[in-house]
Amino acid sequence: MSSSSSSSSFALRAELDLWDDVLCYCGKLAPILPQWSRRNPGRQYYGCGSYKYGTGGKNCGFFEWATGEMDVRCQIVINSLREENVDMLREIEALMIVEEKLRKENNGLKDAVQELKRSKRDLMRAVICLFVVMIFLMIVFVL
Ligand SMILES: [Zn+2]
Repeated sequence: MSSSSSSSSFALRAELDLWDDVLCYCGKLAPILPQWSRRNPGRQYYGCGSYKYGTGGKNCGFFEWATGEMDVRCQIVINSLREENVDMLREIEALMIVEEKLRKENNGLKDAVQELKRSKRDLMRAVICLFVVMIFLMIVFVL
C-alpha cells in the first residue's frame, strides 16, 4: 500500500520535472494549464509562456497535452461534479440574496418594535395622567 503510493508520487515528481523542460514557440517555459472542455475536463496541457490569462494578449498558440487521454468514466464523473458545483454556486448566490432580504426585513422589524415600545411608553404616561386627573376630579366633586 505505502510502496504503491510512494512509487506513484515518485512518478508524479518525475512527470513534473519533465514538464519544466517544455518550451513554447516563443522559447519560454510552457506553463501547465488545465483544460475544462467536456471531453477533457481538467486534463493538463502545455500552453504558451507569453499567454496571460484574461488579458488575451499576444501568444504563439503553442499547445501540447501534458497528460494522457482521459478515461471516459473519469470524464463523466468530473463533468457531473463540475455541474453539481455550478448548481451549488447558483444555490449559494440565491441564498445570499434571500439572506440579504431577510436581514433588511429583520432591521425593519427591529425598528417597528422600537416604535411600538415608544408608543406603549407614551400610552402608559397618558393613562397615568388620565388616572391622576380622574382622582383629582373625584376629590374635587366629592368634597
Ligand atoms: Zn509562446
